[in-house]
Amino acid sequence: MKIIMLGAPGAGKGTQAKMIADKYSVPHISTGDIFRANIKNGTELGMEAKKYMDQGQLVPDELTVKILLDRVANDDCKNGYVLDGFPRTIPQAEVLDEALAKLGDSIDYAIDVDVPDENIVNRMSGRRACVACGATYHIVHIPPKTEGICDRCGKELILRDDDKPETVLNRLKIYHDQTQPLIDFYTAKGILKTVDGTQDMKDVFAAITAILD
Ligand code: ADP
Ligand code: AMP
Repeated sequence: MKIIMLGAPGAGKGTQAKMIADKYSVPHISTGDIFRANIKNGTELGMEAKKYMDQGQLVPDELTVKILLDRVANDDCKNGYVLDGFPRTIPQAEVLDEALAKLGDSIDYAIDVDVPDENIVNRMSGRRACVACGATYHIVHIPPKTEGICDRCGKELILRDDDKPETVLNRLKIYHDQTQPLIDFYTAKGILKTVDGTQDMKDVFAAITAILD
């Protein structure tokens, strides 16, 4: 099963992608997580990506596409995967389609987690991310058991630099300009499914599993 998660930054793609990955035993692949791991490890890719991420801009397709195609070529992706944060542009979607078509394969579902812009700044200013394991929380909606500490691994939770309100507005604009056209792209292919992302995360997940089961 090959799934793409679509939706604005902060819509809940990562939250749902982790639950899908657990239930259906497929890897959760987040290009944002791959970039953040590279930044943390001080790699050349990380240094380059950081310049764009800090401004709320997209990392250029040339860099992003290669890391994604390398990742999905791994053995653990044989039975599928859930992509979170990729594709974010039409050219990225086209490259992925072409790479899959060469293998006689294709994406099964593109799931759009629909959340209006009004809710996004609140979602992102309240998001706290674990520096060590990548788990995410929300200080009001999905709080950790102990404030500032990851339930899963006990490490510190942080507010991502690119979740500060001034950067969020830039990311939302870029989403509408460059990523939202993917909704029409996957509708035309007949694989787009939309779920109401304003519901409680368990209800969003129930809507997704009703599609996938
Ligand atoms: P994305 O991967 O789309 O950027 P996240 O999954 O990280 O978004 O979610 C953004 C923020 O919203 C996080 O703080 C997360 O805990 C919170 N969140 C996710 N789903 C819901 C939901 N259904 N209701 C309320 N808050 C949510
Ligand atoms: P995310 O963790 O998905 O919110 O991504 C954080 C940031 O990483 C984005 O704002 C972009 O700067 C960058 N990024 C992640 N995925 C992509 C992608 N597919 N294309 C371009 N930039 C990306």
